[in-house]
Amino acid sequence: MSASSAEPTISPFDAVIVGAGFSGLYMLHRLRQLGLSARLFEAADGVGGTWWWNRYPGARVDIESMEYSYSFSPELEAEWEWSERYATQPELLAYLDHVAERFDLKRDIQFKTRVTAAAFDEAQSRWTVRTDRGEAVSARYLVMATGCLSVANRPDFPGLETFKGKTYHTGHWPHGGVDFTGQKVGVIGTGSSAVQSIPKIAEQAAHLHVFQRTPNFSVPAHNGPFDPAFLADWKTNRAQYRREGRENGFGIRALDSSEQLAVETPPEEQRRVYEERWARGGFSLVGAFADLIFDPAANATAAEFVGSKIREIVKDPAVADTLFPRSYPIATKRLCVDTDYYATFNRDNVTLVDVAATPIEAITPTGLRTSEADYELDSIVFAIGFDAMTGALNSIDIRGRGGVALKDRWAEGPRTYLGLMVAGFPNLFTVTGPGSPSVLCNMAVAIEQHVGWIADCIAHLGGRQLAAIEATAEAQDAWVAHVNEVAEMTLYPQANSWYLGANVPGKPRVFMPYIGGFPAYREKCDQVAAQGYEGFALSSAASGVS
Ligand code: NAP
Repeated sequence: MSASSAEPTISPFDAVIVGAGFSGLYMLHRLRQLGLSARLFEAADGVGGTWWWNRYPGARVDIESMEYSYSFSPELEAEWEWSERYATQPELLAYLDHVAERFDLKRDIQFKTRVTAAAFDEAQSRWTVRTDRGEAVSARYLVMATGCLSVANRPDFPGLETFKGKTYHTGHWPHGGVDFTGQKVGVIGTGSSAVQSIPKIAEQAAHLHVFQRTPNFSVPAHNGPFDPAFLADWKTNRAQYRREGRENGFGIRALDSSEQLAVETPPEEQRRVYEERWARGGFSLVGAFADLIFDPAANATAAEFVGSKIREIVKDPAVADTLFPRSYPIATKRLCVDTDYYATFNRDNVTLVDVAATPIEAITPTGLRTSEADYELDSIVFAIGFDAMTGALNSIDIRGRGGVALKDRWAEGPRTYLGLMVAGFPNLFTVTGPGSPSVLCNMAVAIEQHVGWIADCIAHLGGRQLAAIEATAEAQDAWVAHVNEVAEMTLYPQANSWYLGANVPGKPRVFMPYIGGFPAYREKCDQVAAQGYEGFALSSAASGVS
């Protein structure tokens, strides 16, 4: 595909990057350091990616701020001080804006521009990228830094268009905020976004109805301002702590993963360990025992512990029972990290409605109707999640060799080599793509590793005057088989989670992230590069394979 004469063309670049979140910003910085020219397209009118869009009340990170931040620049780390254990969305946005300013990134970012299509020109070994402004731009490399959770699921309830009140989606929250004071509010969904926003909305609303289809396990954040001694310790030991994070299977130091097995631990000792981790807060509960995600018996001990906590906190036993998940093992859907979630159901102005038992039939002009009752609502909040991991990539018309569309190639589910590249799509990189640890890792750690690998790869090609790199079909098949094999060793595939695409009707059921652990994955990527990009075909401009 070449740009037609009617289209405004932009001078060619070495690389186009799509998305100005954590991934895209760092990618731009690394490409600049290589002396390459790059243009970054971003649909929003500011940097931040997920932190730009997800502005719902209570939005904050679920990994501790000290770990959920860049580690590539000691100066940046030294000058930025997080104020709370789990940074709020505004603080994260301020951080990413600071990064963009500090590294002078904005001059290469074109905001309010959505990439709509990209096609690979085989003769030139270049991509032509098109935007919703009608531009066409040519680039040697195309880096998709489009995020794993960036395409919000649209509410698809009968009667939605008849509703006379206001509707909101947690993933597209109005920038000025929303005042629910005095309103009857309904929240549909009980995933992480709902678990964070429900306690805040309940503080404002006259009445809040929570429409729960599947309960989620949630653990307390124990959020708060940092203790100065903690900060001082981090300053002194930062390099070591960062390394310990990268050595953890989930890229999270605070997980403090134990090698002890729950099934070999007496019940009183199990309880002591769980209590201690509950008191610490956050994901550390998942690190309590090494067999939690492999062995149903071990998993049940953690699930039952959280169940006991729900029953302790929630005064009405029937409500506590409805809040307890029974249909999947704990941690096989992303654990929620909350502030006062369960306690919110003790408030007089909060009602839990079990829409698994009494399904939502329709949105009505005045509210919502289930199979059992009508609920009057002034506002409805859809906290119904995302078309995860493939949604953003499939929403762009990406065409590789022979004009093949990526979304057709992925009709049966995504297939990649290392989550970094796709056979048939040369010079297209996917930062934290499906088949990489991504959402099963601290995203900051996963992103830095991927961006570093891609930058080194591009430097390797440039240094040897190579025009293209492409995953081989054989290497991709072997990697996909490995990703599936490792997932099947765990309890994860038992949950109808967004990891499997199970939350989007009609989406193929494929376990998308790589669960073999971040350290093993990083080692594999390093080995592949050290062996001259094993599993990839490298070619010169005349498309001779080297
Ligand atoms: P989610 O985990 O996919 O939760 C969506 C919720 O909506 C689920 O409870 C789902 O129920 C419900 N739902 C969807 N369609 C529905 C329908 N038609 N009727 C009734 N209920 C419906 O989405 P999310 O809460 O936005 O979180 C997605 C991910 O984003 C998280 O897992 C996390 O990785 C990330 N996130 C992180 C944070 C954080 O703490 N930093 C905050 C927000 C999001 P079913 O389970 O029955 O489908």
